[in-house]
Amino acid sequence: MNGKARVLGGENPKEDIYWFKTEKAQDHRPLASEIEVDTVVIGGGFTGVSAAYFSQTIGAETALLEKSKVGSGASGRNGGHLLFGSKYKFSVLAERFGSEFAGDVFRMSGDAFELIEGLIREYSIDCSLDKCGNLWAAHKPADLEVLKLEQAFLAEEFGYETRVLEKAEMDQELRSEAYHGVHVDPHGASFHPLNYVLGLANAFEEHGGMIFEDSAVVGIEKHGARVVVRTMNGQITATNVIIATNAYTPAIFPDLASGIVAVRGNIIVTEALAAGTLEKLIPGGRVTSDTKKVLNYFRPLPGNRMLFGGRGDVGELYSNMEAIFPDLSGTRADFSWAGSVAITRDAFPHIGRTSSGFLFAAGYNGRGAALSTLLGKLVAQKAHDVPSQEYALESLAISKFPFHQFREFGVKAAAAYFRFKDRL
Ligand SMILES: Cc1cc2nc3c(=O)[nH]c(=O)nc-3n(C[C@H](O)[C@H](O)[C@H](O)COP(=O)(O)OP(=O)(O)OC[C@H]3O[C@@H](n4cnc5c(N)ncnc54)[C@H](O)[C@@H]3O)c2cc1C
Repeated sequence: MNGKARVLGGENPKEDIYWFKTEKAQDHRPLASEIEVDTVVIGGGFTGVSAAYFSQTIGAETALLEKSKVGSGASGRNGGHLLFGSKYKFSVLAERFGSEFAGDVFRMSGDAFELIEGLIREYSIDCSLDKCGNLWAAHKPADLEVLKLEQAFLAEEFGYETRVLEKAEMDQELRSEAYHGVHVDPHGASFHPLNYVLGLANAFEEHGGMIFEDSAVVGIEKHGARVVVRTMNGQITATNVIIATNAYTPAIFPDLASGIVAVRGNIIVTEALAAGTLEKLIPGGRVTSDTKKVLNYFRPLPGNRMLFGGRGDVGELYSNMEAIFPDLSGTRADFSWAGSVAITRDAFPHIGRTSSGFLFAAGYNGRGAALSTLLGKLVAQKAHDVPSQEYALESLAISKFPFHQFREFGVKAAAAYFRFKDRL
């Protein structure tokens, strides 16, 4: 692709997705029989694979059903930015929900990072974990002031040291005229998200867990204390069901589906850039998100490629990349793909039970790479009544979107409004 990248519609073939080109995968057979297990997990992303792994290692025979391939949802399509916190800034959380709540989300984020690092270490998961740190780039001068407040809050409240660089001194981290300064968080990280989830899936299997791919759940019925989960060619009878379908939640789980709006995000990955280009544009080598309401994010990749993501179609992404880095104008985009982000009404992830009593964890609002492994663990512990860490976030119930059937119109209208605000 030269200049304006081609726009893809619908689901992308694997070949379009950089992570799948560089994966360490093995295929799994579909479910084609009737089996009985203790626990069945629906959905093979970070949340589901984590829930399955922890369920199995707790001692419960566990099977995982994935509609397509492990990691084929958002977990194998994301930017691979491992960021501390939730969608809200910690200072905003403290203002709206109190400092205790903000402190609890801080503790939860730390635990989520520790958990992922521990699993990667324990199973030698080859997923290019890089504790590179991350940048928040100020789209407007006023945004830099907000970032300064956040930096001060993090230091005072939690002793969490970050730095803010004004535009004049920003060059050491990011060379772009598009931004007015950056907030540097040295604790952020990056990884190869697909290889991480595949590595954890291997660990689950090493412990005796079963994975069935190309096995979409099409029906679910309760029979007393047992539940029958049906796919097109087989069924599993289980005591516990964990739903981990996030933005891809099907209509057979209506009360979870109506609490989530799926918003499309796109990513492009450039051709290999001339040696030294990335080092010039992002000298600190960190992953970056900006403060736009319709945000852009980017990161260097091995082999001198740039990953660039955001909302809008691929052509719009390419134009945004050119505006931020004019040096990349005319660069070929070798990969481009889309994925669905799960938005909730309160912008928090949720863990809970559907009205039928099935456990779920979902709704990361574009920030699930770090938190979803932890929520998968928590939901597995709940399934088996294993005492677990408790977090304030768990007390929040997922609420339905009013007029959920008009969500596509609502999402488009909201995006248009936020784009307008970004231009002001
Ligand atoms: C383009 C993009 C970029 C992102 N970038 C980042 C980032 O840089 N950092 C970050 O923190 N977060 C990011 N996110 C969000 C992050 O990827 C998600 O929060 C996370 O992957 C959620 O994991 P999950 O396991 O809950 O869901 P998913 O990975 O989406 O898994 C759900 C799975 O359920 C399966 N499924 C659906 N229906 C059925 C069924 N009927 N039967 C069986 N299986 C079914 C799907 O096939 C899918 O594999 C991004 C998301 C997108 C889309």
